[in-house]
Amino acid sequence: MKVLIYNEFVHEQHDGPAKDMYPRGMHMAIAEEIQKIDDSLEFSFATLENHKEVITREKLAETDVLVWWGHMRHHLVDDDVVTLICDEVNKGMGLIVLHSGHESKIFRKLMGTRCGVEWYERGDHGRIWILDQTHPIAQGVPNPLELEAEETYGEPFTVPTPDELIGVTWWKGGEIFRGMSVYHRGLGKIFYFHPGHETYPSYYNPGVIRAIDNGIHYVAPKMRIDELTSHHIQPHEP
Ligand code: ZN
Repeated sequence: MKVLIYNEFVHEQHDGPAKDMYPRGMHMAIAEEIQKIDDSLEFSFATLENHKEVITREKLAETDVLVWWGHMRHHLVDDDVVTLICDEVNKGMGLIVLHSGHESKIFRKLMGTRCGVEWYERGDHGRIWILDQTHPIAQGVPNPLELEAEETYGEPFTVPTPDELIGVTWWKGGEIFRGMSVYHRGLGKIFYFHPGHETYPSYYNPGVIRAIDNGIHYVAPKMRIDELTSHHIQPHEP
């Protein structure tokens, strides 16, 4: 299975604490941690710097699942690339949107809403309670899944009602957040998962990695179509 990870890759090159936490970038940490538990995936990578060259129509056509992490530079992601990605999700490609990717152009376009959250950052303890223990993404994930320190994301989260709500996060500060959910768009599935602020160790947390790995398998296409156009046809019965 082919997995393409897009990471903006700006914080880890320029901000001390993020550099210390993920010296080779979050994309590398995510892939390396997943490879410890799953050898069935073939990873490739794109960053803000090279995304126009890497994320082409041809590349997406052979990608089963795209994983997306972006934060401060959403506005610099090329609009043509955004259109290609949204079309490919509608054709069946799987998409995983992590953490601050909730503000990305692709997530907002696919959701059709503003996708805003209430947030603050003080490294609080978060606790993800699994609501659907039968869900494939929840298998092998501790319940609750403890996040030792994270950026707090709270409600209201201005997204459509999730098609599948897998977990809800409780925060020390009193907030809650629907941060583990699946949306269906066209033939594609989108898994939104909130852990992963650049200065906290969530992508070294085995439960978080297990959920992302399960998510990759869950949103991977069972069926894929080549085009999205309408067709004029003759009646099936004369
Ligand atoms: Zn963050």
